[in-house]
Amino acid sequence: MAEYLTKDLEDLLIEDLVLGIPSYPATEPMLHTAIYNTSAPMKRLAYSYGFSVGKEISVISGGKGILHLLNVLDNSGIGRKLYMPAGDVAIIKSSTKTGHRLQTGAMMHNYEAGLISGYLSAYTSKTINTIETHCRYSGAEFCQFVSNDQDQEQPDGAQAAVPPMGKMVEMVRDSSGAPQGKAKSYFLLSILPVLGKQLISESAGLMLALGERLAVSEPRLQRTEALARLASFFDISHQVREKEGAITVTLKYLPYNSTSGFVELSTKAFIGFLSKSFKSSVRLSKAARDNVYTVRMSTKSGV
Ligand SMILES: [Zn+2]
Repeated sequence: MAEYLTKDLEDLLIEDLVLGIPSYPATEPMLHTAIYNTSAPMKRLAYSYGFSVGKEISVISGGKGILHLLNVLDNSGIGRKLYMPAGDVAIIKSSTKTGHRLQTGAMMHNYEAGLISGYLSAYTSKTINTIETHCRYSGAEFCQFVSNDQDQEQPDGAQAAVPPMGKMVEMVRDSSGAPQGKAKSYFLLSILPVLGKQLISESAGLMLALGERLAVSEPRLQRTEALARLASFFDISHQVREKEGAITVTLKYLPYNSTSGFVELSTKAFIGFLSKSFKSSVRLSKAARDNVYTVRMSTKSGV
């Protein structure tokens, strides 16, 4: 896995897990924001994939304007957005004045920047570029995106492989509906490309490290509480059974997040946590029934 902000990303995710409201999506940074900052190629992927999604959202909306885009961004969980046209430039700014307590020094919302560009490009029939100029994770109190039709310095233009997923259009529709403030489908939609075979190992590495860190560095959380937080972070229902010092965790996915890629990604965090916390190898079995995955994990013994 690329050494790229990794420790900061783990910190950010752990803050969510420990301090976040135990419901998914918890607080920023969301899973996708962390995953898309694990490497420079991931940043590029985020932008170009976000572009494709933004375009699709505009097409599906049937030519709705900027307000629709702002509604979509409301679902991203980074706060109500303001739109300020300024000559040839459009500025979109999140209105929440809540810089994150932890700072990475990086502009982290590449996916959202791409999404804004794609939407505006489809809407105006020009190629619009967007850069994030301020970010809650770089010391600013807000995120700000500047769009225009000039070339701006982007994470350079690698083409995103947009996954040919049947559910994508449906999810786009769902995530671009009325502002729901943090739509579940928004987050799953945003990570679709990394759930493919080629990219999943990089993100899975971050999830494994996250679980391990949670086990060793969070005295604030009891084990069962930590497991509950992990489950709610990924929006999975879970059961814990302890017997003779060994622990069995059963995860039941919801229909919307029951895809093999997401199962692989999320179970990595549990494996990391259980193996570190119980100093044991973890046995894993999974089964899919009626399109819903159930995963069972057991340690050999407890400590
Ligand atoms: Zn930002």
